[in-house]
Amino acid sequence: MKTNIVTFSGGKDSLAQLILLIERKEPIHSVLNVDVGWEFPWMYDHINKVAAMLESKSIKFVRFNIADKIRYLMFDHAVFGRDEPYKGKLRYFGKGWPGPSRRWCTREKNELKDKYIKSIDGGVSCIGFAADEAHRAESKNLKKQPYDVRYPLIEEGMTEANALAYCREHGYYPEGGSPYDHFKRVSCYCCPLQSIEALRILRIEYPDEWATMLKWDKLMPSINKPFKAGETVNDLDARFEYEKSMMAHAV
Ligand code: SF4
Repeated sequence: MKTNIVTFSGGKDSLAQLILLIERKEPIHSVLNVDVGWEFPWMYDHINKVAAMLESKSIKFVRFNIADKIRYLMFDHAVFGRDEPYKGKLRYFGKGWPGPSRRWCTREKNELKDKYIKSIDGGVSCIGFAADEAHRAESKNLKKQPYDVRYPLIEEGMTEANALAYCREHGYYPEGGSPYDHFKRVSCYCCPLQSIEALRILRIEYPDEWATMLKWDKLMPSINKPFKAGETVNDLDARFEYEKSMMAHAV
């Protein structure tokens, strides 16, 4: 028999699909969350709130924490050369920041998720892609999974904006009280794949997280030092500070 396994990142789309399935009274085998340790501190309280809601409905919540492994891979993992002249030779330690073609942290999350879903007989992976990002469901990786995959928000025609509004109707992400006040999407605060504008906002609104990124930046292996488009976090910090001073002069 098929049974739904809901992937829940903590963000609005995955929460909207969870609430939707609950409201539709669809059977849910379990809800799955993988924590890489890079969430906004606010997110942990939010996930605990969702965990309490699930417990009240006797829905199983499975949480994996791989923060230690991620930290190790980022800074200490021995990386050997694959091609000549470095083939098999130790190159450096630490995978460094992820990037558009080096999403090693996503891979770690997905491997764990796949392993879990494969272990459930008839498990169907429910992924919270919104109706206005339906192209993501065309991913070759998702199509070749050995289990069924479905997209409840796409089935419902629910867009990203609808998903946020829907979650708010149910008491989550209150206006003035969550990172959605500042960002359209919320994922790992230190993700280099977010826009420059989002990073500019992060620096102002979340100075503690920004300070952590500046610290990590200095620990990166030099080969993987650039954080985004050839710039380090420290480069970006100097650039944003310069922009601020220019704005001050313009007033
Ligand atoms: S959101 Fe960014 S940093 Fe977080 S797991 Fe995905 S690629 Fe990695």
